Amino acid sequence: MILILKPGTLSESHEYKQLLAHLANLAGITVRAHTEIGLEQTLTEIYLIGNTKALSVEDMQSLPCVDRVVRVSEEYRVLGRHENDDRPTYFDYNGVRFGQDTLNVFAGLCAVDTLEHVELMLKALRDHDQVCTRMGAYKPRTSPYSFQGHGKACLPYVFDLAGKYEIKVIAMEVTHESHVEEIREALYQTGTSTGVMLQIGTRNTQNFELLKIVGRQQDFPVLIKRGFGITLDESLNAAEYLASGGNRKVVFGLRGMKTNMGDPHRNFVDFTHVPVVKRLTRMPVCIDPSHSVGTRTGSPDGILDVMHATAQGIIAGANMVLVDFHPVPSKALVDGPQALLLKELPLFLEDIRIAREAYEKRVELAKRYQEAG
Ligand code: PEP
Ligand code: MN
Repeated sequence: MILILKPGTLSESHEYKQLLAHLANLAGITVRAHTEIGLEQTLTEIYLIGNTKALSVEDMQSLPCVDRVVRVSEEYRVLGRHENDDRPTYFDYNGVRFGQDTLNVFAGLCAVDTLEHVELMLKALRDHDQVCTRMGAYKPRTSPYSFQGHGKACLPYVFDLAGKYEIKVIAMEVTHESHVEEIREALYQTGTSTGVMLQIGTRNTQNFELLKIVGRQQDFPVLIKRGFGITLDESLNAAEYLASGGNRKVVFGLRGMKTNMGDPHRNFVDFTHVPVVKRLTRMPVCIDPSHSVGTRTGSPDGILDVMHATAQGIIAGANMVLVDFHPVPSKALVDGPQALLLKELPLFLEDIRIAREAYEKRVELAKRYQEAG
């Protein structure tokens, strides 16, 4: 059960203390408070965990400071959509809004290789009004002999250049808790000229200890990728680990499933789950067409499979696109064969606009039919 407190409730107030004292006396109930400092107001939610069936919504509603009460189902307690649950489906980070109604494109390098490539990429993004990117510094690789990413050594120039080209959010995978500290430190050293969305890769979706650590910090939002060999429910529970640790700024990423049923694509594209995740949870949903498709193959209509997959995700309501680009794919150290070219960036963005417009028209159409009864 969630008690949503009146906006602006202060933890020092007498009423708040009264409320906590009352809740502490409930048998078999653990109380956990979460405060979210938003742009406009501070919101506190109190989670009651345990045998809440015995509690009546009316009783809880009448307690001091309580605005609304949501009885949650067992699943995805924090991130899930529950009956009468009108908690927000968005968050803001570094001036950018991420929600179930917004769309942000994160085009960039799968892996940082050279400073020159980073600069070419960021300049192209700035020239096309983009404020987000992807830049991998810590790469989880199948072979121990493959390039593992430059790690913390590249962070200073990546962050400096991002600041120079007015990039506000960089999606960056972390595979170990020490990476979070390294990113925090490098951002601080470079004057926090940009922001980072920590990425949990598909190979770490169920690395529960990593999830707990990333979930306990609230400085960075998190993009968690769906595990490529587990059920959707298992991956959504992984996202819930982040939220139950305290971090609600979570985006859920679809990136295809590992099975040869998807051949000749690298993974079996799972973007039909975009609306499913939006129905089951309040998370914005990201699609990664690059790691799903894995090649630059095109179809007879002249459109690349990566762009077809992107459009399919967007026309289904995706809120974020994570996509590999590279100034010279033949020189990329990771995933060059699936990278789009910088000269394809305007085409890609225009293609996305078309798909998004179609999605918005579909929503309008559905609304009209619903209203007509
Ligand atoms: C990536 O985005 O660079 C990546 C490794 O993705 P995934 O975890 O989906 O394989
Ligand atoms: Mn990759």
